[in-house]
Amino acid sequence: MDHVTGLKCTICGKTYGVDEIAYVCPEHGDDGIVDVQYDYDLIKSRISRESLAQIPLAGGARGGIWRYKPLLPVEPDSVTPPLHVGGTPLYAAPRLAGRLGLKHVWVKDDGVNPTASFKDRASAVAVVKAREAGAEIITTASTGNAAAALAGLAASVGLPAVIFVPKSAPPAKIAQHLIYGARVMLVDGSYDDAFELTLKVAKEFGWYNRNTAYNPYMSEGKKTAAFEICEQLTLSLSPSPYKGEGRWIAPERIFVPVGDGCIIGGIHKGLKDLLALGWIDTMPKIMGVQAEGSSPLVDAFERGLQGWEMQPIAAHSIADSIVAGLPRDRNKALAAARETGGAYLAVSDQEILDAIPVIARNTGVFSEPAAAAAYAGLVKAVEKGLVAPDERVVLLLTGSGLKDIANAMKTVPEPPVVAPTLEAVRAVMRQTS
Ligand SMILES: *Cc1c(COP(=O)(O)O)cnc(C)c1O
Ligand SMILES: [Zn+2]
Repeated sequence: MDHVTGLKCTICGKTYGVDEIAYVCPEHGDDGIVDVQYDYDLIKSRISRESLAQIPLAGGARGGIWRYKPLLPVEPDSVTPPLHVGGTPLYAAPRLAGRLGLKHVWVKDDGVNPTASFKDRASAVAVVKAREAGAEIITTASTGNAAAALAGLAASVGLPAVIFVPKSAPPAKIAQHLIYGARVMLVDGSYDDAFELTLKVAKEFGWYNRNTAYNPYMSEGKKTAAFEICEQLTLSLSPSPYKGEGRWIAPERIFVPVGDGCIIGGIHKGLKDLLALGWIDTMPKIMGVQAEGSSPLVDAFERGLQGWEMQPIAAHSIADSIVAGLPRDRNKALAAARETGGAYLAVSDQEILDAIPVIARNTGVFSEPAAAAAYAGLVKAVEKGLVAPDERVVLLLTGSGLKDIANAMKTVPEPPVVAPTLEAVRAVMRQTS
């Protein structure tokens, strides 16, 4: 990993060698989240926009997130898991845009990842790092998706996984953990309780810990979505995206649903990488969207607090994937909005539920509640006059709607039951026409 120059604490700025610490800054304990530092000149000698043009966007040992392997904190010869992670579609969404008086909206459908959420990007890197470290067991706390992703990616390489999720996690997610063969423990408590428990357990038993925003490599896996967004936007808008002096086209604004803040921090990191490489020349504004019942970052953003000044709250929302009372990646999450001229917005559970069928009917993408929050956030931002009509806007749809059918079904009426006759169908058609 000669391209990784160190691990820098997001609180004190002290930088450690990659072999010096496993996860966090020792001076700041479990909150001392570090950021991976790179030698961009060296990276530029190993990857270019032209070299990327030779590798398909999706699939295989070289495709998906591994297309950007020289930009990831893994050994060049580390074997990558076989599942096809990343390389997810970026769809133009003109009807969604039109509803809001906007011209250019795209949706990034990360629900098509192998375990149906964005978390596969991080868990794929976790599995590689665990094997580099020679770990025999990998563990994580999760609201559900990170663990599903870890269970699936670990199964793909035969690595045993132990999962800690709150017992309230949606059944579809718990089914994934169990079916993939992970050892599952349902924690009688919140996600935050599961997180603390996993820190203790991993230290005690010497397991490799994937915990979000404790393990510094998870944001690095997540940043690949930012690379894809700019590359795909350019492919759809430019006649010769990989050639000449022209840079990749970045969107003006990206909406990200936020719980722990690792995804939003990862998106920011990916965009900073692209700026450092000179592949884009403007930084998009990053918009964090939280559920009203779990919005400590909205509060901290508005009050101008630093991450380390935040206090835990009792968080709740139907959007289980973004419920976090003390967002673990709060330092990076606040920086993402503050340093890019973005903002944090809160949306109600009802607004999140309403967004699910609207996104589905106008794009064909079925989102779980947390993912739908990205669109609810765009609606709110437009209402507040924050978005200009001709801005290029990307919504990060982070998880599939099949993850949480119970909440989705609250947004639609019961379908009629008909006798198998023409007359019965005519009667129903008369009522609904
Ligand atoms: C985890 C998750 C999020 C939030 O990501 P954080 O890194 O916790 O902010 C959003 N949507 C889905 C579907 C998720 O699984
Ligand atoms: Zn520190």
